[in-house]
Amino acid sequence: AKAEGRSTFRFFTAQMQQRSALRLKLEAELRRALDRKELQLYYQPQCDMHGRLIGLEALLRWQHPELGMVSPAEFIPLAEESGLIVPIGMWVLEEAIAQMQSWRERDLRVPSVAVNLSALQFRQPLLVEQVARLLHESALPPECLELELTESVVLEDPDDALGLMERLHQLGVRLAIDDFGTGYSSLNYLRRFPVDRLKIDRSFVQDLEQGRGIAIVRAIVSLAHSLGFVTIAEGVETPEQLAQLRKLRCDQVQGFLFARPMSVPQLEAWLLRHRS
Ligand code: C2E
Ligand code: CA
Ligand code: CA
Ligand code: CA
Repeated sequence: AKAEGRSTFRFFTAQMQQRSALRLKLEAELRRALDRKELQLYYQPQCDMHGRLIGLEALLRWQHPELGMVSPAEFIPLAEESGLIVPIGMWVLEEAIAQMQSWRERDLRVPSVAVNLSALQFRQPLLVEQVARLLHESALPPECLELELTESVVLEDPDDALGLMERLHQLGVRLAIDDFGTGYSSLNYLRRFPVDRLKIDRSFVQDLEQGRGIAIVRAIVSLAHSLGFVTIAEGVETPEQLAQLRKLRCDQVQGFLFARPMSVPQLEAWLLRHRS
């Protein structure tokens, strides 16, 4: 048993070393990925309950030369730990705004783009000035840009967050709470914060087959509406979920049922097909 324990131990440490070596390698490569233009933005349509396009969410993709497409679920945490999320996040903002401008110039109707902000990026002292500068240089109406923040980002330091969010909101930018319902249970902050949209987390949408799931989504929608927020359900995959969300008076939907995140050429083809 002892020998077995030792070999198991050896096996695990070897695995762990391999894993941290891979992490270090990935981190170094992520550092270069920006310069090498290996990062891309995909865009996922957001629709109203009639299937009309109301906006897009920008989602990062890393086209790694050997590993292929690396999921943001894997590299965003790495980017956050290493601080690389700050330059990467800045690139995302610039890229999404430049893309919106290009669509406008070509009369492709895209009402707005939502960009995810990570905690570290949100706390950058110059964030508000940078967003203001990018908007000013682009001449896009500020309400074309939405910033998505998670509850945990907001509630890490609520007073600080409130001030930042008010400054962003004063620029005319929209603010959304992402993954709503999965973080802190305190709802108190919602009264005070300048929020436009609540994004109902995919886990609740998946639970809509059960009575409890329905009750939770109903409660979120009614809370949101009574506070004047728009609700958008994330991860809508089936017509049954859509029908249920419609019954519950959810306002908007995003999910594979309507469209997956797409590259720019794919999205442009989608936009032309869905032109109304
Ligand atoms: P998120 O912000 O909650 O983004 C929604 C995720 O759900 C996306 O995963 C999207 O592809 C996926 N999704 C959309 N519809 C469906 C559906 O119907 N079913 C299922 N199963 N999934 C669906 P993705 O693109 O892999 O992104 C994962 C996470 O990585 C994002 O979650 C976000 O937290 C983070 N992320 C992505 N891009 C950025 C970025 O530019 N900056 C930062 N800070 N984080 C980002
Ligand atoms: Ca998001
Ligand atoms: Ca989300
Ligand atoms: Ca999420």
